[in-house]
Amino acid sequence: MSEKTIFQEIIDREIPAPLVYEDDLVAAFNDVNPQAPTHVLIVPKKLIPRVGEAVADDQATLGALLLAAGKIADKLGIKDRSKGFRLVINHGADAGESVPHLHVHLLAGRNLKWPPG
Ligand code: AMP
Repeated sequence: MSEKTIFQEIIDREIPAPLVYEDDLVAAFNDVNPQAPTHVLIVPKKLIPRVGEAVADDQATLGALLLAAGKIADKLGIKDRSKGFRLVINHGADAGESVPHLHVHLLAGRNLKWPPG
């Protein structure tokens, strides 16, 4: 049996991390090394290693990640267009992926540059 990812351990409550949001399909918690005043990770409860490895059966889970982002942004008061937030998914080494468990970064609270580095 393969080892659990650190995110799976958080979801399974084996590592303590306050959840910012949870539903049947996803959970969200603050990034341990925040890159912006708000930096939340939204993670599927089902292990999908990275976005490019999702399959048709994962459609509801993929949708749940984005719907959760909107709900979290609303909860944190950053959904208003005058504020805003950015969603990032890193797939693979060149993108900087470091945890092989699909996650959406939700970043907000500062003026985010474009293009990203
Ligand atoms: P990525 O580089 O896209 O794979 O993002 C992985 C993210 O997980 C990084 O931003 C890390 O800071 C974050 N991270 C790693 N371990 C933890 C943890 N135990 N709790 C919260 N965030 C974590």
